[in-house]
Amino acid sequence: MNEYASAQRRLCFAVQNRFGDGDSMSERPSGEALSAVRRVLDRTLEPSRIRDDPTELEKYASDWSGAPPVLPDLVVKPRSTEEVASILRAANQARVPVTPRGLGSGKAGGSIPIYGGIVLSLEGLNNIEHVDRANMTAVVGAGTILADVWRATEAEKLFYPPDPNSFDICSIGGNIACNAGGPRALKYGVTKNYVLGVEVVLPTGDIIDAGKATLKHVTGYDLTSLVVGSEGTLGVITKATLRLLPEPASIETGVLHFANVHTAARVLTQLLADGHQPRTLELLDHHALDALRQKSPNLFPDTIGALVIAETDGTSDERAFADLQQLAEAALAYGALDVQVAQNEADRRRIWLPRNTLSESLRATAEAKISEDIVVPRSHIPDMIDAAQRISDRHGVKVATYGHAGDGNLHVNILFDRDQRAAADGAVLDVLKAAISFGGTLSGEHGLGMMKRDFLGLEHSEHKIELQRTIKKSLDPNGILNPGKVLPRRAISSPQVEAK
Ligand SMILES: Cc1cc2nc3c(=O)[nH]c(=O)nc-3n(C[C@H](O)[C@H](O)[C@H](O)COP(=O)(O)OP(=O)(O)OC[C@H]3O[C@@H](n4cnc5c(N)ncnc54)[C@H](O)[C@@H]3O)c2cc1C
Repeated sequence: MNEYASAQRRLCFAVQNRFGDGDSMSERPSGEALSAVRRVLDRTLEPSRIRDDPTELEKYASDWSGAPPVLPDLVVKPRSTEEVASILRAANQARVPVTPRGLGSGKAGGSIPIYGGIVLSLEGLNNIEHVDRANMTAVVGAGTILADVWRATEAEKLFYPPDPNSFDICSIGGNIACNAGGPRALKYGVTKNYVLGVEVVLPTGDIIDAGKATLKHVTGYDLTSLVVGSEGTLGVITKATLRLLPEPASIETGVLHFANVHTAARVLTQLLADGHQPRTLELLDHHALDALRQKSPNLFPDTIGALVIAETDGTSDERAFADLQQLAEAALAYGALDVQVAQNEADRRRIWLPRNTLSESLRATAEAKISEDIVVPRSHIPDMIDAAQRISDRHGVKVATYGHAGDGNLHVNILFDRDQRAAADGAVLDVLKAAISFGGTLSGEHGLGMMKRDFLGLEHSEHKIELQRTIKKSLDPNGILNPGKVLPRRAISSPQVEAK
């Protein structure tokens, strides 16, 4: 059995509660423990906030990872930080697992309650307290939908740059927990670059305010950074203070066509090395284009085998256009076949639509799909693209590559028929190893959740993993908060890189 398949098998065991090798919380809670929590919840919360009806439990049993659903015992929907604190205090006392959940759009199984217990849904903490124009900050509840944060900030001519493609189905708390990014991360960075502070409830029920609503802050350890990207394993985020920027006055969008994905990757790397600073460089390879052509045959010319969506922005129309023009001219000189520039907002939307619906289009081309979100240093983008093609040939499965290639974050999608599961597992493992071999990382934005926790040993030393276990233990001594996520039970192996 290969390493990936054996890791998957162990996850199945986890779901079935058959082991307890390292997680302090590794079983579903006893009826007694649940009754003890339930008694406290019934005393402190309105009845409508506590749900145990089968339809509701099913709704909160899965996310967008494709991992098998696991039913929680209870879904609890607090409306305030104090309610979150009282739920955690009771759960900690009774040793009942609690899985925080924003809107369930995660792709790593992070909000799946693999040991049952409570799903703590933060969707009700969705108030936007204020947008502060003078200080360019916003204070928002963790359950606020990202698109609502955008609307509120744009109303003040301000800009919150992080832009995961799930913007209308994900919460700001989930974004912070996963350190979400999107196409604009190339120029503006990811969620962590815009979180000045967080209000967090620790697994013990203590409430802390980490960070400050100031741009600079060097007093004590940076607890805000510890929480960002911790995937709901260290504390429950209830509120966030966000940094905002002035809204760009103008945006220009163009699409660069290439004969093949290797040329696209080489040109893209060259453009960035030359100092161009677009806000997006989104790459789609030939498998991605073919998937889109299945729905709309005339969407792209037959001659193109890859495309890159390039966007620039600036303080004036002239500036944004000049930047796009310079980038386009350089791309043509380096080997792009053609460049088309959006003439208006409708054109711009038309250019982005295929990218925004790509995941679904790819899914329709095969019986199964595994989506990895590895990152490599930008200079290795062409190497990673070539490695993905070799891995595809070696394992006999289709490997489609697209994503935020400008910042090295590639969505490598393994497409396969159900009887090719072993080959697909082998391909996934080789993709992860290849990313590490180029100095990259296992995940740029989706996190490890339950899906990739057992691969952390490919990237982090045992010592580093142990250090992280110590941090987890000091904040969550009873291991009640999102058990079974992020940290592996034990590392699978040190990287034995052979995928290049
Ligand atoms: C179509 C689609 C496109 C996507 N595109 C992108 C993309 O471009 N970039 C990107 O980064 N991601 C993308 N994602 C993944 C996903 O949307 C992000 O990971 C998002 O940040 C998850 O937010 P959520 O509110 O849905 O969190 P959930 O899925 O509910 O939870 C995700 C993790 O965060 C934890 N969590 C959630 N809320 C809290 C909280 N308040 N406190 C503590 N922990 C919490 C959960 O326990 C879990 O571990 C995409 C997903 C889909 C379905």
